[in-house]
Amino acid sequence: AKSEGRNLYRFFEPAMDAIVQARRALEVDLEAALPRQEFDLDFQPIMNIASGEIIGAEALMRWHSPARGTVGPDQFIPVAEETGLIVPLGEWALRKACAAAASWPPGLRIAVNVSAVQLKSGGFARSVISALAFSGVPAGQLELEITETVLMDESKAVLKTLQQLRDLGIRIALDDFGTGYSSLGYLRRFPVDKIKIDRSFIHDMGNRDTAAIVRTIIGLGTELGVVVTAEGVETEEQLDMLRDNGCVEAQGYLIGVPSKAADIVRLLKSRARH
Ligand code: C2E
Ligand code: CA
Ligand code: CA
Ligand code: CA
Repeated sequence: AKSEGRNLYRFFEPAMDAIVQARRALEVDLEAALPRQEFDLDFQPIMNIASGEIIGAEALMRWHSPARGTVGPDQFIPVAEETGLIVPLGEWALRKACAAAASWPPGLRIAVNVSAVQLKSGGFARSVISALAFSGVPAGQLELEITETVLMDESKAVLKTLQQLRDLGIRIALDDFGTGYSSLGYLRRFPVDKIKIDRSFIHDMGNRDTAAIVRTIIGLGTELGVVVTAEGVETEEQLDMLRDNGCVEAQGYLIGVPSKAADIVRLLKSRARH
């Protein structure tokens, strides 16, 4: 068995080396991508279900790498978090998103995703305040989307930062709601204004049990005075069911796909109240 193990090791070692090297190359490319201005933001509209009006948009990061093509955030955000690049990258996204929102019709919201690593790094609140001041976007129009991993260690510092931002009028949304292991616990302990039901629940709403879960989350949000947004809405049937159950907002391909800054301005001007 021992020699078998050694043979296996010899067999896998070159493959492991290749994985480590590919990962290292990704880190190097990613590091260079920010000064080379290879990142961009798309914007996906968010609709008020009752009125049918677009009330704002979420900024979604894109990496246009000359060597790799367009790389999705699910592939590079985790790497950026591990290397710490997410701190300057996230700050760039916040500034860019606020700058874009400054040219939208007044009153529309801009939602920006924030990584746990950013929130735990010192000076996050300061960088948010600076992005707002620089762009002229009022705090009341900014929404920060955080996932439960942000809250997982329940540090006093994170709670204080969230409270400070909220006192300024910035809204806090709990992203991917329902996928973590303690969604309800966080809702009790942390100040949030909105919950975004993860798109996996919306996708499976045809299933009776999943439909019951979605209805329960909407009821919970309503009871707590928290706005509920459904993510990943793709069909009229899904939207109808969400409307029937009093869900406040919807986001998804049915309402609009993530679009370039110029296209979202056109959409906002035509479909928002102003
Ligand atoms: P998320 O915050 O849950 O964003 C929604 C994701 O669902 C986006 O994927 C969006 O393109 C996709 N989506 C929207 N509508 C539909 C739909 O109807 N059907 C389906 N199947 N998908 C839909 P994307 O753009 O690939 O982003 C993936 C994740 O990357 C985001 O998930 C977010 O967690 C993260 N991310 C994106 N931008 C940033 C950023 O600036 N900072 C940080 N920290 N994370 C980001
Ligand atoms: Ca989000
Ligand atoms: Ca989400
Ligand atoms: Ca997600």
